[in-house]
Amino acid sequence: MGRKRLMRSSIIILVALFIGINTVCAASAMESPISSITPVNNLNKSSSVLGLLNHSVVYNGNGSTGGSVPIDNSIDYNGATVIVLGTLAQPKPVALALVAPKLGVAVPVLYYHLVDDNLWSPFHSMFMSPSDFANQMKYLKTAGYTVIPLAQIENAGQYTKPVIITFDDGYEDNYTNAYPVLKEYNFPATVFLISSFIGRTHYLTGQEILQMRDLVSFQDHTVTHRSLATLSPAVQENELSASKQVIEALTGQKVFAAAYPDGSYDQTTIEIAKQLGYKYAFLMVPGGIYYTGENPYIIKRINVVRGMDMNDFIDKLDGLST
Ligand SMILES: [Zn+2]
Repeated sequence: MGRKRLMRSSIIILVALFIGINTVCAASAMESPISSITPVNNLNKSSSVLGLLNHSVVYNGNGSTGGSVPIDNSIDYNGATVIVLGTLAQPKPVALALVAPKLGVAVPVLYYHLVDDNLWSPFHSMFMSPSDFANQMKYLKTAGYTVIPLAQIENAGQYTKPVIITFDDGYEDNYTNAYPVLKEYNFPATVFLISSFIGRTHYLTGQEILQMRDLVSFQDHTVTHRSLATLSPAVQENELSASKQVIEALTGQKVFAAAYPDGSYDQTTIEIAKQLGYKYAFLMVPGGIYYTGENPYIIKRINVVRGMDMNDFIDKLDGLST
């Protein structure tokens, strides 16, 4: 775990001369383009780093193509941890590297869908058994976790063993089966709503949403739940803006976070989310622990699925498995 934590946050791209390592020829902020680099390993002149994900550095290249590089290889350089992305032979020898001077705080973000033993859809893994859900909440309490509101994610270091609870899609059982358990422990949670599904069969009604507001923050899961990366920028924008307006009008609360349907996003999605005022956006896969200071627009979560036993649940919370 120490090895992982060492690599987190405050990412700066450096293009350092590989021959004569003390000569740094360029340094730029996280999203500035990399200049004077011949394309290698899917990197190109316009590449920028998207963030750290699944113990890898994720970068984009042409359009949505890009890649990721494991961050296991690191060196100490002038007091900072430098993660070597790769070396480029042309036009002159360089190493493309990241610097991670600060340590982040681990924030497991759990995500659920349905909490019901009535398996009314074919996707059974999405149905958490209410009894298992209750046991998981009990474990968080007894193990000394602090369940924090989503809005506190970047302040997680102020809490003992912070953890965040989220639900995707806005199913009605979140009100009938999960909310009473959350009330029992006074655990805050977040539900990502599909705005056009509110009030449909199996989905939360407006009245139920209003009743849950004392503990539950309602955030955005788009208008129609289509995979954003497959949509044009204009449609992506509508999916993230029209839903935001509907949810804010219903709840009277600010919408500042989104979960990408099916975890689908591209760099355009991130730019749109930023422009619309979103502060955070959440993934589905790959799963894992979020560390404060990582890219807040690709926040990893832990998928809690039907049948997961308590040891697996604990391992995921501890970052021992994804
Ligand atoms: Zn969903």
